[in-house]
Amino acid sequence: MTSQEILALTDQYVMHTYGRSPVAVDHGDGARLYTPEGREYVDFTSGIGVCALGYGNAAWLDAIHAQAKKLGHISNLFYTEPAARLAEILCKRTGESCVFFANGGGEANEGMIKLARKYSFDKYGQGRSTIITLQNSFHGRTITTLKATGQDVFHNFFFPFTEGFRYAAANDLDALKAAAGDDVCAVMVELVQGEGGVLPLDKDYVKAVEALCAEKDWLFLVDEVQTGVGRTGTLFAFQQYDLLPDAVSFAKGIAGGLPMSGILANEKCRNVLGPGTHATTFGANPVCAAAGLAVQEALSDAFLQEVQEKGAYLRSGIESLHLPCFGKTRGLGLMIGIAVQDRYSNKEIAARLADNGLLVLTAGPGVRLLPPLVISKEEMDQGLAIMAETLKQ
Ligand SMILES: *Cc1c(COP(=O)(O)O)cnc(C)c1O
Repeated sequence: MTSQEILALTDQYVMHTYGRSPVAVDHGDGARLYTPEGREYVDFTSGIGVCALGYGNAAWLDAIHAQAKKLGHISNLFYTEPAARLAEILCKRTGESCVFFANGGGEANEGMIKLARKYSFDKYGQGRSTIITLQNSFHGRTITTLKATGQDVFHNFFFPFTEGFRYAAANDLDALKAAAGDDVCAVMVELVQGEGGVLPLDKDYVKAVEALCAEKDWLFLVDEVQTGVGRTGTLFAFQQYDLLPDAVSFAKGIAGGLPMSGILANEKCRNVLGPGTHATTFGANPVCAAAGLAVQEALSDAFLQEVQEKGAYLRSGIESLHLPCFGKTRGLGLMIGIAVQDRYSNKEIAARLADNGLLVLTAGPGVRLLPPLVISKEEMDQGLAIMAETLKQ
């Protein structure tokens, strides 16, 4: 099919829930994507922070082929090696104790919310179910995780939402204390607010939140759906913040492009969600887990160090272009936000860049870059050159 045919067929038969770019992607290689007609794009999106190893990674493909040939799926009523090994690696690399595997970020956060509420119910009984989240956060699209999301625009249409969430301004410990109460069981944060605009939390603040949670026996929950799996230059962002959360959700990059997510939790949460309290049919799918193992294998300490260096290179490259539409950059590792000057629109900037062969994302009022973690210097330079040419006026 041609690009035009794919666009037309999609618009006719698929619900119009997304504001899509008019680009049909046929295949990819490294950090480059190609249309059916062979038009090339440099990709600073990797899905939305999903394709950590880029496109066509040989080890990732081999792992998927080999596992699909052996066993494509079996339920969680049985055991498989790939999920067992992936859980072990994630625990050993983080200091957490156990994993629950699911399929998407919102679903993982739902599980984390259930974990917090049940932890509190088991210990204190009913009435301690409120979870404090931060303004400008994003936690998912289910009815509950929409409500967990601290942005009013998401609290619309789908009434009634799940009760039991309060919001506090980010980086403001007094605001968090003001939102506290006898009904609270947990605090949930993103360490770098992704959809909200790539806004990193202050380390002192997060350490104080962790300490407050420990003091009150609230679970300290970290949503690493976007920041996890090497994106910020450590396996999880919480490792850079010097934390050990009670539970951590992960998703986007975990299987390098196959749908997988999960929750890591510490020892005190190990037996909270006992048999029959939580489940998902597709969770821990062996092909996804095998892909996840290939991702873990690639993310050595040296590789993660390179992610930090590439992030620094890309950010200084962008800032030294002095483009009239851009302000400062921010972020961690290869999770980069670019402030957009008032008189420009981030959506328009993204569309102009796409027209010239560079795919970027938006977040809040800014531009967001989540390139494949394997992106090469040459690919970054090509992207920077397209930015310079497209946005010089
Ligand atoms: C993307 C995202 C989610 C939602 O993940 P889905 O897989 O789309 O359900 C939740 N939290 C954060 C921080 C995210 O970036």
